[in-house]
Amino acid sequence: MNTTRSQAIFSAAQTLMPGGVSSPVRAFRSVGGNPIVFDRVKGAYAWDVDGNRYIDYIGSWGPAICGHAHPEVIAALHEALDKGTSFGAPCELENRLAELVIEAVPSVEMVRFVNSGTEACMSVLRLMRAFTGREKIIKFEGCYHGHADMFLVKAGSGVATLGLPDSPGVPRTTAASTLTAPYNDLEAVKQLFAENPGEIAGVILEPVVGNAGFIPPVPGFLEGIRELTKEHGALLVFDEVMTGFRISYGGAQAKFGVTPDLTTMGKVIGGGLPVGAYGGRADIMSMVAPAGPMYQAGTLSGNPLAMTAGIKTLELLRQPGSYERLEAVTRRLIDGILEAGRSAGLPITGGSISAMFGFFLCEGPVRNFEEAKAADTARFGRLHRAMLERGVYLAPSAFEAGFTSLAHSDADIDTTLAAFRECFAAVA
Ligand SMILES: *Cc1c(COP(=O)(O)O)cnc(C)c1O
Repeated sequence: MNTTRSQAIFSAAQTLMPGGVSSPVRAFRSVGGNPIVFDRVKGAYAWDVDGNRYIDYIGSWGPAICGHAHPEVIAALHEALDKGTSFGAPCELENRLAELVIEAVPSVEMVRFVNSGTEACMSVLRLMRAFTGREKIIKFEGCYHGHADMFLVKAGSGVATLGLPDSPGVPRTTAASTLTAPYNDLEAVKQLFAENPGEIAGVILEPVVGNAGFIPPVPGFLEGIRELTKEHGALLVFDEVMTGFRISYGGAQAKFGVTPDLTTMGKVIGGGLPVGAYGGRADIMSMVAPAGPMYQAGTLSGNPLAMTAGIKTLELLRQPGSYERLEAVTRRLIDGILEAGRSAGLPITGGSISAMFGFFLCEGPVRNFEEAKAADTARFGRLHRAMLERGVYLAPSAFEAGFTSLAHSDADIDTTLAAFRECFAAVA
């Protein structure tokens, strides 16, 4: 068998970089086989270095909601590029993106730009503690908030609240301040508050989970957490790095009508360049340096290129009909996937909200990470490879949500569903 260029490049990469990648999930470890090395992306498509084209349902893990390399974003970037890539000084474009974010996201009265979702979440963590003078936080099992020490705690069933770290190198004392609860379990959160009176700075969650597969909040869950945090003088943080400007223009908080105290953002607001942001109530944000004493800074934060891509992306999304289109295209996709799976006799459950979707190869419902673990990951691995061979690029893990974009056409969905029908039958 001939070695593909993808294989050759990835082999070389493994001697140069840990696991051959710059971010772990790209290595395809959870689905098996070699990753595909991309050459270029455009609209709904990605091309690999061997010239194969894929319909892409990852969209760079979220940013490409208008389609890859949207001509208006690229044109705006060309123009910005000629004026330089980084100022390290105030730049008017920051005001423009801040205005767009503040106008769109209900909780955000002031915003600080950073360079990634991880940076946004680790900064918000410090802010939660600074504002409340408390040390502990509550997160949910299966929720990802970037790779800061305090968030690398998932806790399996037996050690649910002991705060054991998931990664070597995370100090035990740090992990011990992270309390965890199963997603969608209000009683568990109530209990944590009761057991740690006056010690919990706040609760952080993905308002729709995408990092344990696609898991929406059950009715009343977000509202319940909002009430509990208020009752206990703790802050509520929505990590909208994935859901911001995707679940709706105002994020999950606008969609569900629940307003947190603070919000983290990333992915879409950078339009494909490295951007993160955190924002919220003005009284809390006023603690951030230099307005207040909580230190946080960044050499490249708010740089004109990243701001330009974000601004142009939000301007495109703001146009009437964008979210109706995203909702319709994604709904047709997931309905077709579920039907194809059932026709092949497979246990399958799933859903979508706006431009975010997912399915699990198990009987539903899936309301938390524990239930998600019932999914058949070996079969998903075979399905993933079979779909790749038919030119459809799905997230390389049974526990990652999928993303659509404004560039996905009805014909793309038809092609994708035809591939699903063949592949489900092949792996059944
Ligand atoms: C992707 C993601 C992050 C981390 O963002 P990076 O830009 O990868 O550092 C944090 N929270 C959520 C919900 C995410 O989906």
